[in-house]
Amino acid sequence: MKVLWRGLTMACGGCGARGLFEQWGMFSMAQDCPKCGLHFERMEGHSLGAVAINTVTSAGLVLIGVALSLVVLGTDVSTATLLLIAAPIGVVFPILFDPISRTLWNAIELLMRPVTDEELDPRFRADSSE
Ligand SMILES: [Zn+2]
Repeated sequence: MKVLWRGLTMACGGCGARGLFEQWGMFSMAQDCPKCGLHFERMEGHSLGAVAINTVTSAGLVLIGVALSLVVLGTDVSTATLLLIAAPIGVVFPILFDPISRTLWNAIELLMRPVTDEELDPRFRADSSE
């Protein structure tokens, strides 16, 4: 749970370091953790997982928005009205959620494929007594 929480709060899943983003938004995440040295793009195509998390979450929110609209406004609401409600959610949320989806995917990926000592700064390795 601690690793997932780190991912949800935009921290490094490995060590909990913050400051992984120069600014809020896409393409500004550090390539390596500034504290433990973990390289976030651990294999080619790694970021597709973050895109998948972002897409599924955004689509779910759009569906919830449409469903709530139908409940509140009734089923005879126009398609244009539903679009006015759903489109901003579908456009704005993925942009705002992008950094979180990246760190969350890193955390999930760390749980599925634990980090090896070779991926970390020597100070964070299990055999750091050398
Ligand atoms: Zn780290």
